Amino acid sequence: MTSIFHRSPTSSLPTAIGGQGVWLESSDGRRYLDASGGAAVSALGHGHPKVIEAICEQASKMAYAHTAFFTNEPSEKLAEFLAVRAPMDAPKVLFCSGGSEATETSLKLARAYHVSRGEPSRSVFIARNQSYHGATLGALSVSGNPGRRAPYLDILGPCRFIQPCYAYRHQFADETPEAYGKRAADSLEAEILTAGPENVAAFIAEPVVGATLGAVAAAPGYFTRISEICKKYGVLFIADEVMCGMGRTGTLFAVEQESVQPDIITMAKGLGGGYQPIGAVVTSGEIYDAIVSGPGYFEHGHTYIGHATACAAALAVQQTIEDEGLLAHVRSLHPVLVDLLRQALEPTGMIGDIRGRGFLIGVELVRDPVTKSPFAPEMKVSKTVKKAAMAEGLMVYPNSGCVDGRNGDHILIAPPYISQTSDLEQIADRLSRALASVLTETE
Ligand code: PLP
Repeated sequence: MTSIFHRSPTSSLPTAIGGQGVWLESSDGRRYLDASGGAAVSALGHGHPKVIEAICEQASKMAYAHTAFFTNEPSEKLAEFLAVRAPMDAPKVLFCSGGSEATETSLKLARAYHVSRGEPSRSVFIARNQSYHGATLGALSVSGNPGRRAPYLDILGPCRFIQPCYAYRHQFADETPEAYGKRAADSLEAEILTAGPENVAAFIAEPVVGATLGAVAAAPGYFTRISEICKKYGVLFIADEVMCGMGRTGTLFAVEQESVQPDIITMAKGLGGGYQPIGAVVTSGEIYDAIVSGPGYFEHGHTYIGHATACAAALAVQQTIEDEGLLAHVRSLHPVLVDLLRQALEPTGMIGDIRGRGFLIGVELVRDPVTKSPFAPEMKVSKTVKKAAMAEGLMVYPNSGCVDGRNGDHILIAPPYISQTSDLEQIADRLSRALASVLTETE
């Protein structure tokens, strides 16, 4: 019996009671290797003494001080940390409590910028199919995730969608990756022209698509062309780094690997690494100046923005990632993880593609690797893999719909950055056993 309205009310869940390093423990004495970092959240694993100390110290000082009355030291320091490192000019930081709030903030910022500059007609947002930007109504409106949108279609706001940059399925056989990247990016220009450039506020995209496509990085040159197109038409480029940011792909900001400067970057999961609920939005100085010096103002805020304990935790997480050289560690172990997964999983005959950057890896599961034909959606293969992996003491993050919103199965592997080669070996090993048991079930 439970009084919680759980995400999946019909399934029963183990009770998590503790965690240490990359392991989580449930009340029945079982241990789970957290190979997905929950939902790509956990960066330092569990029980990091520096983060715990920072939280305890800050919590012992004060419970809460409203940001309309006070600023606080941890939020000032965290903003400074992010602003110094963000790939944009003279950035400013807004805090929030999670990814969806970060998306909401970014959309409203984009709108406020255009209104402040005397372009109130700019109200159209363009996003991509097979994307996810959050569960709240504004964020869901710009999310190209048909399954999550379906029950709420009637109450979602308008948004225009283009195809994602998804080479495994969309690149032609006779096309180079560069030509494909350009073709995919050019569809943004076509969409802007159809909407009327004077009406378009912003384009939002995940630099590495997370859960909905399964760790898909763009083809070479894609984001350079996207950035050119946005600049040409005065459209803001919002990089949603809620999942792929904060070191997950081996650089602090995922977009650093694309050598472009977005106008707005959102982040959340890896920012606090699961120790506290926190998100943030970094915006360029140009947007800040336009809003602050313009006729309008930014009417926005939540009760818990800039919470001192959450900011202290996030600052400790980020400082630890830097002090312990974890970005270089993630970069160096990326090929090891990919090789281990290939060796362990490809013999199952159900692996279409293994892809991603750093410790954000997607494994696309197919019925036939040669034809790339997906499993029937009714088979719920990715969910079955999740269950089988749990039985093996392994957490992986399942998703479906990567092919067209309905067909296609994939799982995300996103271990904490502290993972060592021996942990990665266990991930590959346990996952291959889970896939083998799923194969037996589906035969
Ligand atoms: N944006 C991206 C890219 C995400 O992956 C997510 C969550 O998975 C969100 C936004 C929403 O974040 P939250 O679940 O913290 O509201």
